Amino acid sequence: MTHELVHMAFPSVSRQHHWIEEGLATYVEPIARAQAGSLSAERFWADMVRDMPQGQPGPGDRGLDHTRTWGRTYWGGAVFCLLADVQFRERTGNRRGLQHALRGVLAAGGNIDGEWTMERTLSAGDDAAGVPVLKELYEQMNLETAVVSQSRG
Ligand SMILES: [Zn+2]
Repeated sequence: MTHELVHMAFPSVSRQHHWIEEGLATYVEPIARAQAGSLSAERFWADMVRDMPQGQPGPGDRGLDHTRTWGRTYWGGAVFCLLADVQFRERTGNRRGLQHALRGVLAAGGNIDGEWTMERTLSAGDDAAGVPVLKELYEQMNLETAVVSQSRG
C-alpha cells in the first residue's frame, strides 16, 4: 500500500528508467513506515543490509537503464536512492536529503498522471535540494554501460 502511494507521488518515466520508480518505492516505503513509527530504525537497516546486495551489478551488467532484471530494477534502484540520500546530506551539511528532492518533484507537478523525461524529473529534485546529486549520480551509474561496452571492444 505504502509502495503504491510512493508511485502516485512521482512522474511516470519511460520504460528504460523504470528502475527509478521501483527503486524509490522500495527505498521510501520502509522509511515512511519508520517515520510513522511502525518500523524501527534497527529493523530498517537490518532489512537494507539483507536486501540491497540483490541490486548490485553482476557480470555483464549494462547499467541501470539497460539491465532489466528484478534485482537491478527494485534493489539497484534502491541503492541509487540510498546513495543519493547520503550525498544530499553530505553536500548540504545534513540540511537536505532525498525527501526534499522528492517533495520538490511533486511540488513542481510531477505525479503519476504525468509522463516526464528523466532529465526533467532529476532536475526538479536537484533544484529543490539545491545540489545536482541526482543528475550526477545518474551519469555515474550509467558510466557502467560505457565501461562495459569499451572493454568488449
Ligand atoms: Zn512498484
